[in-house]
Amino acid sequence: MVNQPSNPIDSMDEKKLPLLALRGMIVFPYTVTPLDVGRERSVHALEEAMVQDRLIVLAAQTEARIADPDPEDLFRIGTLAEIKQLLKMPEGQLKVLVEGIRRVKIADFVQEDPYFEVVVEELPEVALPETAEEDPEIEALMRSVIDHFSQYVKLSKKLPAEVLIAIEDIDEPDRLADNIAAQLSVALEVKQNLLSIVDPRDRLEELLVVISKELEILELERRIHLRVRKQMDKSQKEYYLREQIKAIQKELGEHDTSSEVDEYREKIRKAKMPKEAREKAESELARLQRMPPMAAEAVVVRNYLDWLTGLPWNKKTEDRLDVEEAARILDEDHYGLEKVKERILEFLAVRQLTNRTKGPILCLVGPPGVGKTSLAQSIARSMQRKFVRFSLGGVRDEAEIRGHRRTYVGALPGKVIQSIRKAGSSNPVILLDEIDKMTSDFRGDPSSALLEVLDPEQNSNFGDHYLEVTYDLSDVFFITTANVLANIPAPLRDRMEVISIAGYTDEEKLEIAKRHLIPKQTEAHGLKEDQIQISDNTILKLISGYTREAGVRSLERAIASVCRKAAREVVQGHSTPIRVSVTSLESMLGRPRYHRSKAETDHKVGVVTGLAFTQFGGDILSIEITVVPGKGKLILTGQLGDVMKESAQAAFSYIRSIAKLLGIPEDFHEHNDIHIHVPEGAVPKDGPSAGIALTTALASALTNRPVRGDLAMTGEVTLRGRVLPIGGVKEKILAAYRADIRKVLLPKENAKDLEDVPKNIQRRLKIELVDTMDEVLRHALLPLPKVEAEEREPNLSFIPKNEGNGWVERPHEPQ
Ligand code: ADP
Repeated sequence: MVNQPSNPIDSMDEKKLPLLALRGMIVFPYTVTPLDVGRERSVHALEEAMVQDRLIVLAAQTEARIADPDPEDLFRIGTLAEIKQLLKMPEGQLKVLVEGIRRVKIADFVQEDPYFEVVVEELPEVALPETAEEDPEIEALMRSVIDHFSQYVKLSKKLPAEVLIAIEDIDEPDRLADNIAAQLSVALEVKQNLLSIVDPRDRLEELLVVISKELEILELERRIHLRVRKQMDKSQKEYYLREQIKAIQKELGEHDTSSEVDEYREKIRKAKMPKEAREKAESELARLQRMPPMAAEAVVVRNYLDWLTGLPWNKKTEDRLDVEEAARILDEDHYGLEKVKERILEFLAVRQLTNRTKGPILCLVGPPGVGKTSLAQSIARSMQRKFVRFSLGGVRDEAEIRGHRRTYVGALPGKVIQSIRKAGSSNPVILLDEIDKMTSDFRGDPSSALLEVLDPEQNSNFGDHYLEVTYDLSDVFFITTANVLANIPAPLRDRMEVISIAGYTDEEKLEIAKRHLIPKQTEAHGLKEDQIQISDNTILKLISGYTREAGVRSLERAIASVCRKAAREVVQGHSTPIRVSVTSLESMLGRPRYHRSKAETDHKVGVVTGLAFTQFGGDILSIEITVVPGKGKLILTGQLGDVMKESAQAAFSYIRSIAKLLGIPEDFHEHNDIHIHVPEGAVPKDGPSAGIALTTALASALTNRPVRGDLAMTGEVTLRGRVLPIGGVKEKILAAYRADIRKVLLPKENAKDLEDVPKNIQRRLKIELVDTMDEVLRHALLPLPKVEAEEREPNLSFIPKNEGNGWVERPHEPQ
């Protein structure tokens, strides 16, 4: 059988046919193709074909862009086609549906205008089996082509899958080859080449080559596409994850590390650290950068960097070194304290002249509430320096001063570095409060660390364990405070210039209250000055009835309570000014807590009022002794410190040595126990200054002679009865004054200390300076009451009964 399409045209030889030039496309036999036709020549050709037998030759232009082709511009192999349909469109356009019949060779161009007319030549026929089954090779070729083509369809995605169904139904090799060729999107030349291959077997082979090549390209495209997509997916995924991390961090209140690192870098730059610290900070920052942001270690590093960059490495306030201005400020903030202020000004003046920051550390010593802190504050104000304070009370661990190493959980720098940061300048005034309250234990001695802080020779390189780099403290002005000088560790005390503040008299307290405390508290409570009036008597009542202190801290608190009550009354619409009188005090603050007894007229046997110096200032101290039958034991009860027990022993020995003089049997201790008791509770009563008081009480108890009730005494005593000087004279005298004592016995050698005691107090208190125990007893012991004396044991009857309040004369001084 010949491969002859079943159409009516048997032979084309010598038949003239119109030709339609195709641009950029090929129409294969056995395919139906729509064409849009607009060129004049083409329209004419179609019209001609329509009037004849609807046959037309389709030949592709070698170059699609030529609008008006010559015969040379057309391929010589074309397709004979039948016009199936023709639609006229507006503006002379035509829509045609053509069906390829068979390939033809253009033999000659008969005419070119108004349309191409050609004579075509039959192409030699190729004998092929009717169906593929008869020729396995063809069969194989066809299957292979279909196979390749179906892959092509899948990969190219340009062709609908139905194309395959149509193709798979075709069993003629020729038709199959043309149908598939028509579907490929390949270059025009390739298609034209396929059209020009007459032998279907060759055409199938060529088709296989073309499709394989296409498949390769498509596969490559697919891979490229896949790679690109993977790349895109990856970056998209990363982007997405990053966004999520950001969102999570935001939720957790953290921020993005990269911006954080930049922030720290900027902070380090701005902090202007010394080289050592800057290098340390930078290396830590590099470490931080490498850590995952959530790591526990990162938190530690961040904290550390915050500390390093938060310190005022290079920030300083400018000093005002003006002694006159300082004097003005000290006076403005404090009443009285003349000597103290003078000492402070001298200290500042020396500092100014020597222009040195090195030098002794100022130490303000005195009971609570006497203005130590506020003096230090005024010093800072007068120098225009920043002020920070921290308390050393209860500090027992070196790390509190010097910080913990960073390896500790929750480690922090020590209090010194913390204060510096709080101050925000590297030359603040730092007040170290209660330096006498430091203790030390197995965790290390804080006082040695403190020594390094305070020592001008060492503190320019102060090493904090946490910081790991040194900080220069040499510009810091350290001031310390203490209640009792004796409790300050000796090496520290050596480096200090001590200024003692004793305590105030009632008159001074009254002035302080009027000038400072009341204005301060009224303002703090939102009251105007004219809204409250507190009379002097009321203030004095506050001082005597509601406070018992050397300073004015409780007084300030009491005034604050009064202001609170007054504020309430003002708000409730009471008429102002609110007058606070002595009587209204009781309704405001309750009944007075303290009663100052009037001069004790009650003279008692064996009871002596001593004077003690405690950390709260001076205080009175009641010493009681009774003699009971026994075997000479010395019984000590109450709050007696070790030193006081020794004093009691000494007093006992001394009395034994003068037993004869006292007129008591020399063997009194063999038949009697002596019980010494110090009832007044809480205050520690250490110190030997109760010596004369103990001795007097013992003498009184043994002789049964009463002791003057309005008398107080202080002084140390030797075994031979000499009275030795003691400390804290002003405090003790103020305490005696507060307790309404009339007469005070003081060691003669303490005469110089009376300078510090306000004159008005000296006038009201009779101060007797004593040198020997004889004198003490002469002042203290009253004669034996008459009636009692007669009833007494004869061993005590030696005491001259009619003598005033004197002491027996010494035996070697004949009467
Ligand atoms: P300290 O540090 O000695 O315990 P503070 O300095 O805290 O005492 O003083 C307690 C209060 O008393 C402060 O409000 C202070 O201003 C005030 N104060 C103490 N002494 C005086 C004074 N001489 N003049 C004015 N106010 C004083």
